[in-house]
Amino acid sequence: MAKSFYDRIFDAGVIGAGGAGFPTHIKVNAKADVVLANGAECEPLLRVDRRIMEHYPDKVVEGLQVAMRVSGAAKGYICLKAKYKLAVERLQNAIGNKKKIELFLLDNYYPAGDEQQIVHEVTGKVVPPGGIPLDVGAVVCNVGTLVNIADAVEDIPVTHKLVTVTGEVKNPITIKVPVGTPMKLLIKEAGGPDEGQGYALIEGGPAMGKVQEDWSSPVKKTTGGLIVLPSNHLVIRKKEGPSESDYRLTKSVCCQCSYCTQLCPRNNIGLGVQPHKVMRGIGYGRGDAIGNINDVFSCCDCGLCTYYACYMGLKPGTMVTTIKNALLKKGIRPQKERVKEVNPAWEYKKVPTERFIQRLGLSKYDVDAPMVDKEIAVDKVRIPLKQHIGVPATPVVEVGADVQVGDLIGAVEKDKVGANVHASIDGKVTFVSKELIEISARG
Ligand code: SF4
Ligand code: SF4
Repeated sequence: MAKSFYDRIFDAGVIGAGGAGFPTHIKVNAKADVVLANGAECEPLLRVDRRIMEHYPDKVVEGLQVAMRVSGAAKGYICLKAKYKLAVERLQNAIGNKKKIELFLLDNYYPAGDEQQIVHEVTGKVVPPGGIPLDVGAVVCNVGTLVNIADAVEDIPVTHKLVTVTGEVKNPITIKVPVGTPMKLLIKEAGGPDEGQGYALIEGGPAMGKVQEDWSSPVKKTTGGLIVLPSNHLVIRKKEGPSESDYRLTKSVCCQCSYCTQLCPRNNIGLGVQPHKVMRGIGYGRGDAIGNINDVFSCCDCGLCTYYACYMGLKPGTMVTTIKNALLKKGIRPQKERVKEVNPAWEYKKVPTERFIQRLGLSKYDVDAPMVDKEIAVDKVRIPLKQHIGVPATPVVEVGADVQVGDLIGAVEKDKVGANVHASIDGKVTFVSKELIEISARG
């Protein structure tokens, strides 16, 4: 019997390429009205989704069609910014006369690529607090995920990742590398500095990405960007903490102007998160001053309140995230609630990306990062067995095994939330643990 699309996506180890890495076979295996391809790429400086749509428009459309068939969705939209003119043109050609698929063009604002924003923009509906897009009949997949779905249908597993390398590098690039490649090799390829020379590395975008202390860390299926910045850059400093001094400043400086809440994109579409109340709760030292604690789970960590809204230089977003993580650690989970009012002035509150980039002090790094069609020499990959939400894969190879690109090296059971892992280079397995598998290239 022919394998189902679901089985092929599971076998290929496809996970969300642009976010937390939710296993895709589970995400699309649902009854949906609409599938939204997310190509907005709202994080400043990153160019991966744009390059995917420019270079692989047919695969994006094919992957979208498969996701629509698996989920039963009658309609598919590819959501991208109107300013991505080349991608728009190529996608229009790829769509041709496929009536069920349309482009949905977005303004250039931050965070246009947030899943909840996209759902609201396209459908007019709001995903309830504590809910997921499926609650309003939508499935959202990153365009990179859709390319991986199209490959999965041809039994090609996920072994490589497209990554933008930018910031303090001589030649910003977007390059495809084997999963497990040490990040420092990509930085070297872009003409960047060595580790420990007064520079810091962000994995992901400047706003939502995390500082990566170890530049030898492996590229994962979810890695979209590597940004090198001076260690004392504002963006890096804002990512530290929260420190004792941050708490002291919250207590002494926050004037409760509520500007952070007024610009919060999640609050504006009717989700209840109110960062100024979290600051108030911390300032008073009273949890009840935060209000409805469930609201903090609606924060998407976009950082707009910290990087853009607060003129006092405080870190409301960091504080919301800290409270959210503390609740999760205690086993408290988000509860599904009714959506509040969408702010009628929402359209006027959208923050233009250029202004956001200026405020972040990143204008000089906002340059093209063209696709480089080149294989970089990788003599060793370290492939994590957990690159996604859920359980890690279990190694199915031992030290000494010869493997080829695409061989299964880590497997999960189908009823578990997780994803298979495959060899990304030809070589010999030289290390196996519960966390990762190392493969050394044949010399
Ligand atoms: S954190 Fe900043 S923007 Fe928010 S209420 Fe306090 S001072 Fe105002
Ligand atoms: S980081 Fe701040 S602005 Fe962004 S969703 Fe969370 S509270 Fe709102």
